[in-house]
Amino acid sequence: MSGGHGGPITGSVLKARTMHLRRKLVAGNWKMNGSLAALTELGPIAEAARAAGGVDVALCPPFTLIAPAVARSGGLSIGGQDCHWAESGAHTGGVSAAMLKEAGAKLVIVGHSECRAERGESDSVVRGKAEAALAQGLQTIVCVGESDAERRAGDQLAIVARQLEGSLPDDWKDGELVVAYEPIWAIGTGKVATPADIAAMHAAIRAALVARFGDLGLRIRILYGGSVKADNAAETFAVADVDGALVGGASLTAESFVPIVEAAAAS
Ligand code: PEP
Repeated sequence: MSGGHGGPITGSVLKARTMHLRRKLVAGNWKMNGSLAALTELGPIAEAARAAGGVDVALCPPFTLIAPAVARSGGLSIGGQDCHWAESGAHTGGVSAAMLKEAGAKLVIVGHSECRAERGESDSVVRGKAEAALAQGLQTIVCVGESDAERRAGDQLAIVARQLEGSLPDDWKDGELVVAYEPIWAIGTGKVATPADIAAMHAAIRAALVARFGDLGLRIRILYGGSVKADNAAETFAVADVDGALVGGASLTAESFVPIVEAAAAS
């Protein structure tokens, strides 16, 4: 299935048509944290995910931990935090989507704001990475989000619209493409966007997806990311068009991650 163009669609029609279309996804991003010893966290997370039911749960540890994490995943999807746009070649330090797949990864995050900032990744680079990941059949989480200065200037909707336009590939299979809205000022800071801010942005993202892909845009999950914790997860998941979360710090232990998974399952 690939993207096509559909006609205009109103807010209430959109809401009615999207109910039950999308199962929630909670994905953990360990960033440059973790160790073989830390993989003991996976057992209780997998057990809680099974018990909660009805929610997809994924963890993205550093590259070196993917294969051992797959071996003890207990049904969790294990993924990478980045991939190269090329399949192979002279790219020192690079890891291709094919390599992730061979290690047992089922998904990959691309365009995280830390990669965009530290490595100067443009939207077209992010799109190349997403295309490479999708070509390998990996579920692909494409991150977008504005900086603090951009929000203070009132430019957040325009910035995210531009990132979506430039970063999302045209062709993908149903279920494989996921968008994560992560306001940079909320990542790792403890500042969470208000439900109203999240609702406004997720509605704008949904409208952009439908404008570009027609009804297929209704099936793309939109995750919120930015200091999601046990104490704010339920109110975040209650927001329309929030189809799950991308979780950094709170995904590092079962104690902090499981309540988020349970909140998603209960929403
Ligand atoms: C992230 O890095 O994707 C993230 C959302 O981090 P945190 O949950 O720690 O803010």
